[in-house]
Amino acid sequence: MKPIIVLGGGLAGASVAARLARAGHAVTVLERETGPHEKVCGEFLSVEACSDLETMGLDAHRLGGVPIDRVRVHHRARSIEAKLPFLARGLSRAVLDEALLQLASRSGADVQRGVRVSGVDGRKVLTSEGAYEAEHIMLATGKHDLRGHARSTPATKDGYIGLKMHWRLSRSALEALGPAIELILFDHGYAGLQRVGARDANLCLVIRRDRFANIEGGWDGLVASLMGEPGLRQRLNDAEPLFAKPLAIANLPYGYIHQPQSDEPAHLWRLGDQAAMTASLTGDGMAVALRSARLAADCFQRGASSAAFQALLARHAGTQVRRAMRLQRLSERPLALRLGLLAAELCPWLLAKSAGFTRLPSYPHVV
Ligand SMILES: Cc1cc2nc3c(=O)[nH]c(=O)nc-3n(C[C@H](O)[C@H](O)[C@H](O)COP(=O)(O)OP(=O)(O)OC[C@H]3O[C@@H](n4cnc5c(N)ncnc54)[C@H](O)[C@@H]3O)c2cc1C
Repeated sequence: MKPIIVLGGGLAGASVAARLARAGHAVTVLERETGPHEKVCGEFLSVEACSDLETMGLDAHRLGGVPIDRVRVHHRARSIEAKLPFLARGLSRAVLDEALLQLASRSGADVQRGVRVSGVDGRKVLTSEGAYEAEHIMLATGKHDLRGHARSTPATKDGYIGLKMHWRLSRSALEALGPAIELILFDHGYAGLQRVGARDANLCLVIRRDRFANIEGGWDGLVASLMGEPGLRQRLNDAEPLFAKPLAIANLPYGYIHQPQSDEPAHLWRLGDQAAMTASLTGDGMAVALRSARLAADCFQRGASSAAFQALLARHAGTQVRRAMRLQRLSERPLALRLGLLAAELCPWLLAKSAGFTRLPSYPHVV
């Protein structure tokens, strides 16, 4: 019996592998990285993501996820704070992704690391270590498209860049940050800052590519210019960067939702960012990835076709993706942003309301 081959051992890939292996299927995961690694991500683990992890027996708190229960928005001299209508966690991706891959392995999946997939030819998976024959293929390579299987939304030149750096904060900055996700809004982008450990915080930025290209000095120039934002200056003043250089990713096809194609092979399943890519501002991308894996495993078990799964996932995640995109686009329009912030200043509960409005719905009924 040929195995189900999962391409990519990130959130979606590792969790679908764990679920299917646990159900008794032969599963092989091909992951190009050789060990735990960080990824560009805000690391805001939403309540939906935490509850999908729980269904696999993983507890975000036990993994070291720090509680996040409020949101603070900074725009120039203005700061607005509200309590979130749910409890989220801040957790490093190196820890989370590794926990999921280990779970896949313990569940019986054959996890092969350091194997780079270069293409798919029918049921044959071509890799740096030779070819593998699969019964079904789960495409979960995240933001990285496979040649011949690129997402239908072409990356645009005026697209976004994502950047991430972990910082060791001073005691006073850590206390001031507290259990909050802080959003620092600036021209053509935003930064998210939150704790991801006892003393460390993650700064993740999304910025227009053309704007980043115009900043002299690249990352250092960007950080220097952001230190002009009072909200960030207070936190990063005495902070020590923990990576030699920031992690970066370009051409983010935000808003992408894969629709089943008539010419797509029935043995190919798309998961995670390969199926839907929501706006980062609402911090639910990991939930979408985990949910896609749960739905795929469920559909597979019930004998549903990959096309039926893709249609169900597009319907299930579509509303969240569209709402998140609307919010992200509004935050980029100066007038809309000013009006929105004014309203939130008068009624801070509006922040909590928009956080609640952009959540992934509860798990759907799968027939
Ligand atoms: C700037 C930014 C900020 C974000 N912030 C948040 C946030 O705060 N909260 C949130 O919930 N979501 C956030 N997201 C979204 C979230 O990071 C993604 O949605 C999620 O990681 C998708 O999971 P995945 O499993 O599809 O892909 P990934 O987790 O990226 O996994 C893909 C895996 O495939 C492997 N791979 C890739 N190509 C190959 C290949 N050719 N061969 C073998 N292996 C391969 C990679 O090494 C990787 O391990 C953010 C995204 C961005 C860009």
